[in-house]
Amino acid sequence: MAKVLRDVEISPPTFDTLEEALVYAERFRQPQMYVEQFAASLKGRLRFSAPLRFDMWLSASGSAVISPGCEAIKIGEVALVRDSELFKTLVHEEMHLRLIRKARNGNPKALEIVTNPDLLVEEDFVEKIAIRYLRMYETVFGQFRH
Ligand SMILES: [Zn+2]
Repeated sequence: MAKVLRDVEISPPTFDTLEEALVYAERFRQPQMYVEQFAASLKGRLRFSAPLRFDMWLSASGSAVISPGCEAIKIGEVALVRDSELFKTLVHEEMHLRLIRKARNGNPKALEIVTNPDLLVEEDFVEKIAIRYLRMYETVFGQFRH
C-alpha cells in the first residue's frame, strides 16, 4: 500500500485557564471524533475526498493512502497538538490524493511530479499548497485557537 510520510516538530499551546486546558486535552481522548468534528466545522469550500482516519501508530502528522479503492487521509497524534497543524496536514494529504488522481487521469504536470524519483518534489509541491491554504484560511476566517 503506497503512502507518503512527513516529519514535523511542533510544540503544544499554552493555556489561560484550567478549563481551556481540559477542553484541549479532550482531543487526545477521542481523536477520531475530534478529527471528524474539526473537518466538519471548517468554514469555506474545502472538502476532503477520502475518509479521515486517526492512526495512533502513525509517527508523522499525516499520511495519504493512495491505493485506488482504499484511499484515505490518515492523521497521526502529532497533528492534534495544534489545530493549525491539523488543518495544514488535512490539506497536505488531500493534495497528495488530488495530485495522484490528476496523474492517473493523464495530467502531464501531475504525472511529472508524482513519478519524480526525488520524493521531495511532490512533498514540496503539496506542502507549499497546504501552507498557502492555511495562511489564506486564517486571513479570511481568523487564526486557529490552538
Ligand atoms: Zn506528504
